[in-house]
Formats: sequence, C-alpha cells, structure tokens
Amino acid sequence: KKKEFRQAEVNIGMVGHVDHGKTTLTKALTGIWTDTHSEELRRGITIKIGFADAEIRKCPSCSRYSNSPVCPYCGAETDFERRVSFIDAPGHEALMTTMLAGASLMDGAVLVIAANEGVMPQTREHLMALQIVGNKNIVIALNKIELVDREKVIQRYHEIKEFVKGTVAEDAPIIPISALHGANVDVLLAAIEEFIPTPEHDPNKPPKMLVLRSFDVNKPGTKPEKLVGGVIGGSIVQGKLKVGDEIEIRPGVPYEEHGRIKYEPITTEIVSLQAGGRFVEEAYPGGLVGVGTKLDPFLTKGDLMAGNVVGKPGKLPPVWDELRLEVHLLERVVGTEEELKVEPIKRREVLLLNVGTARTMGLVTGLGKDEVELKLQIPICAEVGDRVAISRQVGSRWRLIGYGFIKE
Ligand code: GDP
Ligand code: MG
Repeated sequence: KKKEFRQAEVNIGMVGHVDHGKTTLTKALTGIWTDTHSEELRRGITIKIGFADAEIRKCPSCSRYSNSPVCPYCGAETDFERRVSFIDAPGHEALMTTMLAGASLMDGAVLVIAANEGVMPQTREHLMALQIVGNKNIVIALNKIELVDREKVIQRYHEIKEFVKGTVAEDAPIIPISALHGANVDVLLAAIEEFIPTPEHDPNKPPKMLVLRSFDVNKPGTKPEKLVGGVIGGSIVQGKLKVGDEIEIRPGVPYEEHGRIKYEPITTEIVSLQAGGRFVEEAYPGGLVGVGTKLDPFLTKGDLMAGNVVGKPGKLPPVWDELRLEVHLLERVVGTEEELKVEPIKRREVLLLNVGTARTMGLVTGLGKDEVELKLQIPICAEVGDRVAISRQVGSRWRLIGYGFIKE
C-alpha cells in the first residue's frame, strides 16, 4: 500500500543549553541526526538550524506513542496522529541570533535540561527567547536522568519549577527522559501531543515565507546551459506556495548607490518546491520548505538571502530602514554567569535586532518614554506590530536585553 506523503503541520523547537542533549533527543524522536555539516561534526556542536521531520503515531492497543508503524512496546499496528518538524537550535551562547531566527518559526518548543547540570545560562536565555517571540506551548525534557540518582531528579524537578515561575513555561510539564537510551520518549511524545497543538492557519491569506537559508545547488564546473536557479529555504508562516507562482522577495538584493548599500526587492517564479525533503506541487506552513527559483544562483549562494521574506508581488509587508519601537526592557541581562542589571538604552548606541529570521544592527537616533527610534544597517521587511528581539553588546557578546513592537 503506497503511503500518501504529508507535509509536517507544526514546528517544534529543541532548545536549551549546549550539550544538554537537543540533537540526541531529535535523533531519538525522528531517527535523524541534524549535525551534518563538517564544521558541526568537527566541533561536536550544532551551528546551523536543523530540521528533522517525523510522524507521531499512537498505538491503539497499549496507547503509547512512537514514530513507528509497528508499536515498539507491544507490536500492534499504530495509528497516524500527525507529522511534525523538529527544529534543532544551537545551544552555544555565541549562536544566540541563529537560535532567535529559529525561534521565530517555532509553534512550540521542548526545553531540554540535563539532570546532571540543571538550569544553566543558555537554559535561561532560550526560555527568555521563547518568551520574547511569544511562544507559549512548551514541554520541558529533564534529560540524562540515568546519570543521576532519584533524589537528584526530584531536586532538579523542584529547581525547574522555581525557575519557570512567572514565565511562559510556568505550567509546562516536566518529563524525565534519557535521550541517549530512548527512555520515556513515549511519555515526552504524549506531552508534545497534549501541549503543542497544530496552529490554525488560514490557507486563503497571502503567502509569507521567512527565509533561513539560501543555496547555489550547482556543482562547480556545471555547464551554463545546465545551471539551475537559486534555491531559498525557510518556513511558510502563512498561506501556501505553488509551483508556477510569481513571487516577490523583500528586502531583496543589495546594490551600491553613491557609496551606500541599498536593497531592491526582486520578483521571480517558483520552478520547484520541496517540503520535508520531497518534491511537491504546493507547500504549506510546517517544516522546512525549499523553493527553486529562476534567480541567478550567485544571489542565493551561501545563505545570502537569509532574513528575507517571500510572498506574492505587492502583498508583502513594508520594508523599513528606520524603525520606531515600543520597547520593553528586561530587568536583568540573561545568558551571562552573573546577571547584570539592564541599563536604559542610550542615544547613539548600536543594538542588534532580530525580526523573524532577519537580523540587523540599529543605531539609536531617538528616545522617548518606552520608545526608541533606530536607523537600520540592513533594512527589514516586517508588519506593524511585529516583535523585535533586542540585544546589546555586553563584554564580548550580544545579550538579550528586551523586545519591542514595530510602531507605525
Ligand atoms: P546538544 O548540544 O544539546 O545538541 O547536545 P547533544 O545532543 O549534542 O549531546 C551532547 C552530549 O550529551 C553527547 O555526547 C550525547 O551523547 C550526550 N547525551 C545526550 N543525551 C544523553 C542522555 O540521555 N544520557 C547521557 N548519558 N548522555 C546524553
Ligand atoms: Mg546540538
């Protein structure tokens, strides 16, 4: 019996401190190892956002969850629940803006905390990132429980309860697991089914895709007549895309004018679509979507188009090179060992802004009560009301200090 292919319908982030087991857990839940770049393999850490799709299935006989058509616990044939896409985020502190780009695509998240270490700086920073992008559907995985004794597990449980008090994860379930040994992952899947629902999308809204990556897929030395157009990868957050669609990409491509870098939106046609690694005619929200275009691959090589927004010509949000934000500052800098107080924003300071998958620097040109005006180094395409994560350089690193909403 030929199985009908379905695209993933929900994006679930794997977040948490480096080495706490996000990539190992993604493997346990999907069978896919997401650290595949040579740099990642060499350094043993996740650097790029990795997507891994899997089915969640339930056994009608023993009621346990797995990703297998045959129940690994009792051998019965399982029922399909839904197809999900796990987004494996880097946990290293230096890769926070990559994590934030991924967070903007997550419908829910699994916060992974290793039982031998407990809550660490990037555990706090990632939870804050989820809070800042407005993500409320969270499940906590207390991992590596086989490394500690029972008392320690209970102690960690209480520490985590204290840590999440007053945050978006206040009511998140805490599931003890061992990702390495596959222990209790069925209970984690049950919690994901309960606490991370598939979001509702209106398929009639104009499409909007946030670009995470872009590629030149041609092998070096390919004959000109054999070259294929640039490929852009990202996640659709609204509407659907079809092969043959005319699309616009904003803010587009950089060009120089009178010694200044400017950006120009470009339009092209979708010549192919991939979702969950397969060619499809139409693609919807959920998982990583690859869009083959007629663009010169020179424009899309090496993630050059990351941070752009794709949609129907004339239907995309505006492009801003100056922003006015309603600002909410955090009390303390998260992600550092000692949590310093957040000083007020100052005129002429440069802040790092993350909006969707885009990142840019903003020079503070104006300050008001709970309001800041910025001149952007790279323009962004965004809607009035969109959330902006704000980071400041503290010591040698960019640290989250607050968030804002784009004002008219
Ligand atoms: P990430 O940085 O959060 O993605 O962490 P990884 O998945 O790369 O795991 C970091 C290290 O912890 C690796 O050596 C894993 O084998 C190990 N690890 C992950 N999960 C477990 C677990 O449940 N038990 C034990 N003992 N080790 C684990
Ligand atoms: Mg990893």
